[in-house]
Amino acid sequence: MIYADNAATTRLSPAAFEAMRPFLLEEYGNASQPYRFSRAAKVALRRARETIAECIHAEPEEIFFTSCGTESDNWALKGMLLGERERTRLVTSAIEHHAILHSAAALERLGYGTDYVAPDEKGRISLEEAERFLSSQTKLLSVMMVNNEVGTVQPIAELAASAHAHGAFFHTDAVQAVGHMPIDVRALDVDLLSCSGHKFNGPKGIGFLFKKKSVPLPPYMDGGSQESGMRAGTENVASIVGMAEALCENCEEMEETSARLRRLEQIVLSGLRDAGLTFIRNGGGIPGNLSLSFAGAEGEMLLHRLDLMDICVSTGSACNSKETEVSHVLTAMHIPEKYARGTIRVSFGRYNTEEEAGEIARALTKILKGR
Ligand code: PLP
Repeated sequence: MIYADNAATTRLSPAAFEAMRPFLLEEYGNASQPYRFSRAAKVALRRARETIAECIHAEPEEIFFTSCGTESDNWALKGMLLGERERTRLVTSAIEHHAILHSAAALERLGYGTDYVAPDEKGRISLEEAERFLSSQTKLLSVMMVNNEVGTVQPIAELAASAHAHGAFFHTDAVQAVGHMPIDVRALDVDLLSCSGHKFNGPKGIGFLFKKKSVPLPPYMDGGSQESGMRAGTENVASIVGMAEALCENCEEMEETSARLRRLEQIVLSGLRDAGLTFIRNGGGIPGNLSLSFAGAEGEMLLHRLDLMDICVSTGSACNSKETEVSHVLTAMHIPEKYARGTIRVSFGRYNTEEEAGEIARALTKILKGR
């Protein structure tokens, strides 16, 4: 089996698994309890917070553990807007993940307003476009750091500065960025940043929200006093430890991994070009994310044919009973219909090999050219 859907989720790193194991089997104490047995859990929690903070140049007190990237996104948007009377508008982009778009829709149902910044044809959100919507009504500008479908990297520092110039706060959904590119929350000057463990070889069902100390965000879950009273619920110590270990490992190997992922991209692209296939690459930016559109093909057909060859990828379009629906990202980028319908996303990760990249190019050639 060739797994090339790492933007959907990744394989758990063996080192992360080993780091988690004692907190599942032996050191299972509740980190909030005062007795000695809980000390190991408490210390592990503190160390994981320090490690994660260090990886993104934050302070440990600015890291709040959540159950996933979706929860972090919901908390950032709803926490900032709900109850706000003066600045009642959110500005975000048209190509965000549904964790953001559906949170924005929920806020709209409660009477808050949202403006959606359109990307250019490469999937980039420009400062000029964002500034068209920023006003004295804007409470929050939220733009993702890396797009999950096409891999485009957004100009986060510029967008954050612009939000601040308008008296607004800035949030970034960095779920596809953390562990894959260097991140310095101080240099970027972001107020809030969302992250998810399973996108960088950590466990599923764990994430965090970075919140700059001065940012007034209310607690998300009410209950116990965990996470400094900001996010109640007994901490998932094993997963938090696994996430920290995986992030640390990915950051240490980032340069080497990025160079290797770029090579894998080139192997696929040159294999397809050499076979004479007509295709375009959408967006591009973060290493390993290849959104490819084949003229006249159906993305869903490609996905299923590849699946029969034991190759896992994603599609950028889905068939309902009557027609092929193109994703909101490709639609916003104005990818020509005859290409957009035939889109797949190949996303490589740490464990993919050059042989696998070559095999994917050969499989696509076989499906599309019958040879
Ligand atoms: N944001 C982006 C950009 C994503 O790619 C994803 C997952 O695909 C999420 C948010 C949601 O993360 P999680 O699966 O941890 O809820």
